[in-house]
Amino acid sequence: MNSANDDARPVRGMRDIMGQDSSVFNTVVDTLKQVAQSHGYSHIETPILEFSSLFARSLGEDTDVVGKEMFSFADRAGQQVSLRPEGTASAVRALISNGLTQKLPQKLYYFGPMFRYDRPQKGRYRQFFQFGIENLGEGSPLSDVDVIFLANDGLTRLGIKSKLFINSIGDQPSRTAYKARLVEYFSKYETDLSEDSRRRLTTNPLRILDSKEAGDLKIVEGAPSISDFLTNDAAAFFDSVQNGLSALSIDFSLDRTLVRGLDYYDHTTFEFKTDIDDLSLAIVGGGRYNGLVEQIGGPHIPAIGLAFGIDRMMLAYDASKLVTPPLIAVLFVTKNEELYALELAQQLRKNFNVILPTDGNLAKRMKQSNSAGACCALILGEKEVAERSVTCKFLKEVQGYANGAENLVSRDALEAFFAQICQS
Ligand code: AMP
Repeated sequence: MNSANDDARPVRGMRDIMGQDSSVFNTVVDTLKQVAQSHGYSHIETPILEFSSLFARSLGEDTDVVGKEMFSFADRAGQQVSLRPEGTASAVRALISNGLTQKLPQKLYYFGPMFRYDRPQKGRYRQFFQFGIENLGEGSPLSDVDVIFLANDGLTRLGIKSKLFINSIGDQPSRTAYKARLVEYFSKYETDLSEDSRRRLTTNPLRILDSKEAGDLKIVEGAPSISDFLTNDAAAFFDSVQNGLSALSIDFSLDRTLVRGLDYYDHTTFEFKTDIDDLSLAIVGGGRYNGLVEQIGGPHIPAIGLAFGIDRMMLAYDASKLVTPPLIAVLFVTKNEELYALELAQQLRKNFNVILPTDGNLAKRMKQSNSAGACCALILGEKEVAERSVTCKFLKEVQGYANGAENLVSRDALEAFFAQICQS
């Protein structure tokens, strides 16, 4: 059992989001919701827990995410469940469990915490947030362009600068040919490969390309490229995606090593990267996954999706652009005006954000109002109550009123006064 000291700490790799971070978090998520809705996506909320086998089957047993990073446990009935490490598998499971495979396309967006037991560092957490969209049912390369355009739209609206990298990992026949060539290549270095990569040589050679082991990285550098193994169909599909992006003036670079760490991808893969301090971090990742619905037990349904990494977008977002709605503090002078103040606060809350500090003397409550960021304090004393007015003291410079300026305003004119002051 943990000591009391341990109980007051968050679990490693998990964190609280509050204050200004919370405002940035909400701005990012709200903007992405608007973008997703404007592209015709509707909301889906899936459970955070799913059967572990769903992820093993769809992401792949040999991936780092399934093999090393899932938070998995047996529930009280002994069933193996996992905290979701990503959202695509759940969205596809939901398509099938809700009997929607004949009602296509289903364009869904979701948002929420994901869990991976990775090594925490800047921009990498064990509980992190993704905003994802899944286009289930559309197979044209135009939908790849449209999905990438959506990501670009979200980042642009938030003012986050990034670079787009794309690749094609081809269709099944392309990958069968490529895998055979990879086995041939990596077998030459079998004794130098890490234990994981040696195992993957027989189970899933494509996954050796994602290895993070320094020794493997050198060998991976010289590996053959998927681009030489694309079938004519796969090459033509990828050409159409690139032409579409060019037509929309979306800049991109080809990254032939971009195979992404999950098994379900097919054809197009992409990532948007941004520089945060001296790190280049992926903030959006996605791709096509035409085989996944069938793999989870549904019919063959083409699909493509992506996930924005909210935590990294928060690091990249310029917080000075936040627009915070004005906050008004209502302050009673003595106990005699308490109820009058409460009533005024309730009245103003219909249209404005209002706090009513309750503890301590007037000076202390004025200080609290300042640190809460209130733009003005409405002071209610004996005189104000008798005259049905309030003294409005500005706590910052607002719309031509100096910090510290005081105005006596009648209660009846108060709403109109603030409607003018609070317009931002
Ligand atoms: P993936 O599901 O691996 O394709 O990741 C999609 C996006 O989620 C990435 O581009 C990151 O922005 C974000 N992401 C993935 N893993 C983490 C993590 N451990 N911590 C924070 N963000 C993450």
